[in-house]
Amino acid sequence: AKSKGRNNFQCFNAKMEASLHGLLQLEQEISKGIKAGEFELYYQPKIKTDNGLIVGAEALLRWNHPTRGVLSPDAFIGVAEGSWLIYPLGEWVLENALSQLLRWQKRGWNLTVAINLSVKQIENPHFIDAVGASLRRFGVSPHLVEFEITESFSAENEQNIQALHQLKALGVHIAIDDFGTGYSSLSYLNKLPIDTIKIDRSFITHMLEHEDRLALVKVILQTAKILNLQTVAEGVESKEELEMLQYLGCCCFQGFYFSKPVPLPRFNSLVLGNQ
Ligand code: C2E
Ligand code: CA
Ligand code: CA
Ligand code: CA
Repeated sequence: AKSKGRNNFQCFNAKMEASLHGLLQLEQEISKGIKAGEFELYYQPKIKTDNGLIVGAEALLRWNHPTRGVLSPDAFIGVAEGSWLIYPLGEWVLENALSQLLRWQKRGWNLTVAINLSVKQIENPHFIDAVGASLRRFGVSPHLVEFEITESFSAENEQNIQALHQLKALGVHIAIDDFGTGYSSLSYLNKLPIDTIKIDRSFITHMLEHEDRLALVKVILQTAKILNLQTVAEGVESKEELEMLQYLGCCCFQGFYFSKPVPLPRFNSLVLGNQ
């Protein structure tokens, strides 16, 4: 039994070493990838439900990996968040999204851009100043910039709440992403300076077949209305879902029904065809 235990231990150790090796390798690749310009922002249109017009875009990160093809954030964002790499990566996203917003502004396009934030970025004491400096440098209208935070953000942490108020004071908008999936959703709305609720895709998916999901969507929309918050439904995939959201008075939607996230040139032609 003793030797078996020892073997198990060695085996476990070897596995840990292998995964640690993989992790470190991925971190190194991300770091190199940032310098080599392998990252790209895709844009998913945000649509007004009542008139079908594109009002903005959510910037979604992609990695054009030299050997593995185009990678989605799920393949690397967790690793970046687990290390310091989320800082340069987050900065890269911010700079690129703002410079893109400026280019849209110069074309006379009145679009908003939504940028996803990791909690770690908000917790970084330099973050607010960095955002302020970038906004000034690009000279974009802050109210066209929306930062998306998820419910992993701790509304119990006073420092985080302070940071969010400081961010808001720069004139930008703040959205709660994946709303409804966390367990303290309602208390967030009170404590945080929120402009927009993004209803999580899981509520939208099959809301027409499951009465309880539809009921939750209704409650979220009613709550948003009372609190005077904007609403965006995520993951709209069918005409029927869109019609229900129109009927319920949901302001805006994103989803494959209109478009998946696309590279910039494709997004620009969607806007041109939508005017
Ligand atoms: P998210 O912010 O909730 O983004 C929405 C995700 O749902 C995107 O996945 C999008 O492609 C997908 N989606 C949109 N419409 C539909 C639909 O109709 N049906 C289905 N099935 N899916 C839809 P993506 O691009 O793979 O991003 C995954 C997550 O990675 C994002 O979730 C976000 O949390 C994170 N992420 C993306 N870009 C960034 C970034 O720049 N910084 C940080 N910190 N996180 C990011
Ligand atoms: Ca998001
Ligand atoms: Ca989301
Ligand atoms: Ca999500």
